[in-house]
Amino acid sequence: MQFMTPGKPTFNSTIIFSLFILCIIAGSCAGSAPRYTQPNYPLKHPVQKDGAIQAHFKRARITVDVFPQSGEGFIDLAVRISHEPKQWAKLEKWNGNRKLQVGRKINVPYDYLNTSYRLKAIKQLFPQDKLTSIGWEHVVTYRGETMWFIADVFSGEGEQYPIIQKASKKKEGQAISIGEKITIPVSILSGEFSEDLPEHPDLTFSRDEKGQLFAEYKLKRGEALYSAVVIRFTGRIEHKDVNSMADKILRVNGLSDPRKIPTGKKIKIPFEDLSDDFASEGAPDKVVSVQRERKSSRIYVILDAGHGGADPGTMENGLTEDEYAYDIVARTKQELEKKGVTVFLTVSDPNDGLTPRNKSTLINGKKERLNTSPSWKITDGRVSVNLRVYLVNSIYQRLLKQGVKPKNIYLISIHLDSLHPNIRGAMVYYPNADMRNGQFKTSGSLYRRFQESRGKKILFKAADNRRAASYSYDFSRELIRVFKKKRMPVHKVRPIRPFVYRNNRKWTPAIVRYSKVPNSVLLEVVNMSNSKDLALLKNYRFRQKTAQAITQAIL
Ligand SMILES: [Zn+2]
Repeated sequence: MQFMTPGKPTFNSTIIFSLFILCIIAGSCAGSAPRYTQPNYPLKHPVQKDGAIQAHFKRARITVDVFPQSGEGFIDLAVRISHEPKQWAKLEKWNGNRKLQVGRKINVPYDYLNTSYRLKAIKQLFPQDKLTSIGWEHVVTYRGETMWFIADVFSGEGEQYPIIQKASKKKEGQAISIGEKITIPVSILSGEFSEDLPEHPDLTFSRDEKGQLFAEYKLKRGEALYSAVVIRFTGRIEHKDVNSMADKILRVNGLSDPRKIPTGKKIKIPFEDLSDDFASEGAPDKVVSVQRERKSSRIYVILDAGHGGADPGTMENGLTEDEYAYDIVARTKQELEKKGVTVFLTVSDPNDGLTPRNKSTLINGKKERLNTSPSWKITDGRVSVNLRVYLVNSIYQRLLKQGVKPKNIYLISIHLDSLHPNIRGAMVYYPNADMRNGQFKTSGSLYRRFQESRGKKILFKAADNRRAASYSYDFSRELIRVFKKKRMPVHKVRPIRPFVYRNNRKWTPAIVRYSKVPNSVLLEVVNMSNSKDLALLKNYRFRQKTAQAITQAIL
């Protein structure tokens, strides 16, 4: 992966943007107003206290009041209760910027809670619910509960309600009544309901004399600072970023030699340097297990070979990323088509054609073209990324018009990384909903030349973003699972990421960030800066195996 700046996304206005902030904390938006509303008291149903929280059900929604603990500020509270503790300022704003006081509850949207607090809220609201061997047994307790609500809470997605309906032997549109038992099958059950584990099994939080908040991680035997701490918790994976963060952490801990840290040593990580998604370790807000289409003739895959033309991507020992990505794409196309899947390519190479090249050294050609209308010889890396975004979205829209189901459409962008040389194997980027607000639009006369980009802007709805995040994450897990099964190397820590930090800023590759395709991933097949990985990449059998792994993950 080479750094590429996408066309700047533009926001309609700051009002829209601030609305988005609200939407993120409220979890969703309906129309132009945030869906979330403060509960009115008194409630129809008695609330059971458990000391720390009070959960409420109102208008098919859950909200939770949380009581601060003594000495707790908003940051501490967010660390305790949320899966996005770094967004604590939004919580403060949501509660009118009031100071926290013991005994005075604050209101928290359900979606902002971490899984253990969600579970607490659910147990409080639905004390008869329980996990059984076939799934979660939910007892309808309140008037106003709907199948959609139940699916949303327990599977992470309202749209999955037909699966619950079927499992509970209910007909479409059939009413549900209080006391009735509804089964949410294990296959779609959200993680928090299948295991009651603490949020951060490996981190503790503390303050120093100056009041600075730190996370602490206890190094285990054989673990190195780089992978166990920096790469895992701070979201840095590129050579330069990893080294500068490791230096900072060494300094903060008064250490000098990263190779001489004793096992069991508690390593302090400044709170502000934790990756925004450290608590969820890269998982989206809601994790959904999608029921996949297995009939290949109903599946459509857009394959994107990274870089090309004037933009070779990463270069290592005279080898260029674009040629190897293209060869893997050609092989994947062949494998998928053998099975009856319809494939679209974003890039063609008139020189190399589509025949896989069984060689270890692929000479860098510069003839690659984008399959836009008209086609375009790649003369600029940045323009090429922007045009791909338009191209992918236009293929997607065309398929929708043909009646193809969104969930049966995939975008797979193939790249090779150049990361810290200690890192080995495959890694997947998926689009995080928070990274995709606003719209995608470019300016410049060049974009008027192509049917796909002429006068186009791409808008993103919050609901679509959430769906894309959970579907793409689910597919990423499948990819990594197949890679592991085939004994292909994958990143040891966090092989799936919604973003990484480059120069201390969050970054998601534009092609997945701005793709409307529900299953969108960017697969970094190996790390070219690692010599073992590079040797694998040069072996055409490994490239073929990669194509087979991708095919297997889809079918
Ligand atoms: Zn790349």
